[in-house]
Amino acid sequence: YVKVSQLAKSFGDVTVFQDINFEIEKGEFITLLGPSGCGKSTLLRCLAGLNQVDDGELWVDGENITDVSPQQREIGMVFQSYALFPNMTVEDNVAFGLKMKGMSKPEARSEAKKMIDLVELDGKEKFYPSELSGGQRQRVALARALVVKPRILLLDEPLSALDAKIRKSLRQQILNIQQELNLTTVFVTHDQEEAMLLSDRIFLMDQGSIVQQGKPEDIYTKPANEFVASFMGHYN
Ligand code: ATP
Ligand code: MG
Repeated sequence: YVKVSQLAKSFGDVTVFQDINFEIEKGEFITLLGPSGCGKSTLLRCLAGLNQVDDGELWVDGENITDVSPQQREIGMVFQSYALFPNMTVEDNVAFGLKMKGMSKPEARSEAKKMIDLVELDGKEKFYPSELSGGQRQRVALARALVVKPRILLLDEPLSALDAKIRKSLRQQILNIQQELNLTTVFVTHDQEEAMLLSDRIFLMDQGSIVQQGKPEDIYTKPANEFVASFMGHYN
């Protein structure tokens, strides 16, 4: 469903990643796991089309999207910090992408309402982001990413700014929605526990390379090298 081959990205003479290859099946929950600075966010931004790749190809559902604009990739993305429009209500934030696509106002509102209910923010439609908690804001961001029915959902540490309790409940909520919609998802984190709990498969990244891809239990019990073993907590 998703196929990435030989992907490479540099900024000037600094190589962020190279020779990235993977395939993802429809409906799979993939976690991109790795230490700070290894290239996770840049890889995600390249999948979303927010950064151009220097080399390689990106295919979704049989279509080569390497040179397709971000708007036309039909990919939803949620960032670590809440990138909501502060001067728009919850409802308008969620409906924004639909209006951009030319959907009529009443229809956009009704579609937005469904997503607001799905992320359990019923009753908050008229609230502004500043009137919401961090967890609620991330749920608005999630609803906004989902409303356009993305082919892939990309989540860049969407839980990292939240406290432990909210983090756990929102983590479960994301998993429920992902399964309900059978959404192909790439979730970025540097938290091994989160990766173990959520993923169908983990792609473990180190210094711009994917060093191992596999089921959580395999990554944990059969680490490919010492870095993986240490990162997954064997020697700590
Ligand atoms: P973290 O877990 O801290 O978010 P990350 O794995 O997401 O880290 P990236 O943000 O992808 O890491 O950054 C990878 C490398 O690319 C870093 O060395 C960073 O300095 C570099 N980098 C990222 N964006 C740019 C940019 N716009 N210009 C130059 N270098 C960049
Ligand atoms: Mg990052």
